[in-house]
Amino acid sequence: MEIVRTVEALQEAKQRQQGSIGFVPTMGALHAGHLSLIRRARAENDVVIVSIFVNPTQFLEGEDLDAYPRREAADTEICERAGVDLLFMPTISQMYESDELSIGAPAKRGYILEGAKRPGHFDGMLQIVMKLLNLTGATRAYFGKKDAQQLVLIQQMVRTYFIPVEIVPCEIVRDSDGLALSSRNAYLSEEERSRALALSRALRKTTERITAGERDVEVLQRVMIDAMEGVDAIEYAVIVDRVFRPVETLKPGNAILLVAARVGRTRLIDNLWI
Ligand code: AMP
Repeated sequence: MEIVRTVEALQEAKQRQQGSIGFVPTMGALHAGHLSLIRRARAENDVVIVSIFVNPTQFLEGEDLDAYPRREAADTEICERAGVDLLFMPTISQMYESDELSIGAPAKRGYILEGAKRPGHFDGMLQIVMKLLNLTGATRAYFGKKDAQQLVLIQQMVRTYFIPVEIVPCEIVRDSDGLALSSRNAYLSEEERSRALALSRALRKTTERITAGERDVEVLQRVMIDAMEGVDAIEYAVIVDRVFRPVETLKPGNAILLVAARVGRTRLIDNLWI
């Protein structure tokens, strides 16, 4: 595995590789969720590139940019063992210049739910993903359904800007008790972690009602909210279709259950595609 830290070094290293490129962008503190994306990229491509970059432009003022876990040595080892070819870990100055032009998230879909709670977050996310897709020249790029709204916005960006890449959505990896893996789980105390199970429990309970025949979204959203007892604040618990439009009646095959909540000082999200 080759570790590259500059744009120039990445371009040089790429010239020594041949064939299809599978790309997995991450912010590091790698866990089994990231690893599932890397493994899939490894299975489906000749060359695998992973990036680790804690992107400042997608953090809002007062968010956890400085506290975000950084584990370069452990991450490097995980990538090495997973058979990654190129690990790209740039500095901020490699990725940004001053007075940049920027792209923006769509006015509606980019400013609801996560976009409403974190206004500007998706602009920064799309900006860095656009840069990384162009830089790596990825044939396929792998994204987790864990960040459902992010995934849908990236698919839209690729469509809008005719970026020649295939976006591959990947299933959410969970701990055995149901908690969706996240680098931010590292912030949780033991007591908070057990309360954080409310998110996946809410998704499970709502699914049971759907399996039993319930289709009324208002009723189902109430089930989700009630099942989230134990968290410190519910940010949202909603059902949308696969392009994030609100729905009144759930249609299996075209729905996403989405929850976001705060436990202690940690903000957690989870979802289920129905
Ligand atoms: P992050 O490092 O949090 O920016 O995540 C990098 C990629 O890993 C994104 O595409 C995430 O959606 C994905 N990811 C994060 N957690 C999980 C998980 N538990 N299961 C599957 N994919 C995940």
